[in-house]
Amino acid sequence: MKKIKEKPSKRKKNQWARLFLSLFVGLSAAAITLLILMLLDGRHKEFFLLGEEHVRLEYGEDYTDPGVEILTVGRLLPSFIEPERVYARQTPDTRRLGTQELEYLIASNGKEYRLTRYLEIVDSVPPQIELTPIPDGEEPSWLRGGYIEPGYRATDNVDGDLTASVAAALENDRVVYTVADRSGNTAQVERLLPAGLDAPVIELVGGETLRVPSAMSWEDPGFHVTDGKGTDLSALVTVEGEVIAYRSGDYELVYRLENALGEEVVARRTVTVEPVRQSDTVIPDQKTIYLTFDDGPGPYTDWLLDVLARYNVKATFFVTGNQKDYRDCITRAHEEGHTVAVHSMTHNYYGIYASEEAFLEDFMACEDMIHELTGSYTNVFRFPGGSSNTVSRFNPGIMSRLATMMPDMGYYYFDWNVDSNDAGGASSSDEVYWNVVGGCSHGANVVLQHDIKDFSVAAVERIIIWGLNNGYQFLPLDGSSYGAHHGLNN
Ligand code: ZN
Repeated sequence: MKKIKEKPSKRKKNQWARLFLSLFVGLSAAAITLLILMLLDGRHKEFFLLGEEHVRLEYGEDYTDPGVEILTVGRLLPSFIEPERVYARQTPDTRRLGTQELEYLIASNGKEYRLTRYLEIVDSVPPQIELTPIPDGEEPSWLRGGYIEPGYRATDNVDGDLTASVAAALENDRVVYTVADRSGNTAQVERLLPAGLDAPVIELVGGETLRVPSAMSWEDPGFHVTDGKGTDLSALVTVEGEVIAYRSGDYELVYRLENALGEEVVARRTVTVEPVRQSDTVIPDQKTIYLTFDDGPGPYTDWLLDVLARYNVKATFFVTGNQKDYRDCITRAHEEGHTVAVHSMTHNYYGIYASEEAFLEDFMACEDMIHELTGSYTNVFRFPGGSSNTVSRFNPGIMSRLATMMPDMGYYYFDWNVDSNDAGGASSSDEVYWNVVGGCSHGANVVLQHDIKDFSVAAVERIIIWGLNNGYQFLPLDGSSYGAHHGLNN
């Protein structure tokens, strides 16, 4: 069977054609209308900066350009396409101080527009100062040379190391460190200084001037010196100068303390050694004999004391320490009203005249012995050999010096003007007697004898009788007696 294909009817064909035509006409009309509308709408681009036009940024701060937004808009119709973004052509560098411009170029309707954004990169962060601590045990002090800067470091976020620009100023009790960066940001830190930086003062005990009587020795009353922390520095003080206590005059002492820089603290003291004023010499109205006996006591001293006691005659004993067995005679002589005086402990010329110090040492030993035996000291003495001796010439000038020095200290020395010569040419009692009575012609007669010579002691009673019969009085020596000083020969 032949399949017969059914043809669409003519009427149906027309129906489709009409539909297509009306659709075409409709769409065209809509497009034309839209086109007309769009032309009338005046579509164009609008653009604006996102974010601020003037932006202030800290140095190094991250910055993301927000860009420029571009919208296509009409007068009537809204934008129906996504807005565009345009970014600046430059990449901002926030590690560069100053103002940077970001430019945006926008093309619209055949024209080119330019927008600018200003970025100001600033540094408002101050530098930092870091102080090196003072190491333990190295606290600065005047003694160490004052303040020694232990160091510091200054850094800045922009300028880097600013250590060289730090100004460190010492202000009273602190160091003030100041630094500024290029942008004028400043930093200041302080370091408090420890006590003890001021130069210490040497305080002299007893003051800067001292007046002391001439004496065997003198002891410096000392000084105090401490640093600001109270540390005693006196062991570091050097003292220049010397006071010779037995020689009158002015002495200057200089006390010095030096620090590590060679700076000095100095104190000065003037010590005036003043001579002890001598008593005025009293010459008795009556003719007077002063019997004096040197170099004892010895085996004949008790006998001599008996003779003197019998006549109630007071004499003077210039004693030595050479015969220990007879020292009780010293006590007896003192108790019986005689003058016990210093001659020498050793009577060794080469020892005692070697120096002033040696003389004084011997002298004081004798004084101490006398004090021990009598309970008192004496201010009366006789130089071994007398002040005119020449045996001391091995030490030139020693007698001249001692003859000034000892009276300055308040001691009275006695020579003689009547020599019994019992240590020289005389060897018998008669000779001694005649030498003495032949020599007594002055108002004040200071007779030299030695009670270690028996023949000399044996002459004493006859001398006393002669004196009393011839109108003399017998007296012991004291500080006001006539000294009968010889001329000095050394
Ligand atoms: Zn003598």
